[in-house]
Amino acid sequence: MLELRPNCEWCDKDLLPDAEEARICSYECTYCASCVSDVFQNVCPTCGGGFVPRPIRPKGAHRAGLTLGLGHQPASTKCVRSRWSAEEVAAQVARLKDIPPADRWCTLCRPVRWIEIHLTLNAARVL
Ligand SMILES: [Zn+2]
Ligand SMILES: [Zn+2]
Repeated sequence: MLELRPNCEWCDKDLLPDAEEARICSYECTYCASCVSDVFQNVCPTCGGGFVPRPIRPKGAHRAGLTLGLGHQPASTKCVRSRWSAEEVAAQVARLKDIPPADRWCTLCRPVRWIEIHLTLNAARVL
């Protein structure tokens, strides 16, 4: 379940749970839309992946018997701040911004391609 973090981890702008401008990466690093476009150019400074708009959790419960919605699972109130310096961000962005997120293979360790992972998983399933 998403934490729904309360702020942009870069500029510290408030991002309420219903903020249309909240963006998240697949690890839930959370930023405002302007930092994602202007500073990060759709490169997460931590994992190197892309960003999508954060879904808005409904305020109320809408299914009997299911305790869902912000009333039951409220947004996080714990502010998170980026651990990276402006220089570290710029280097990550320069390395990855021109590569579509789906093609951002490992640039640090032994090259691992998704097809190899996929084949390994399929082989394990067959055995
Ligand atoms: Zn921001
Ligand atoms: Zn990330």
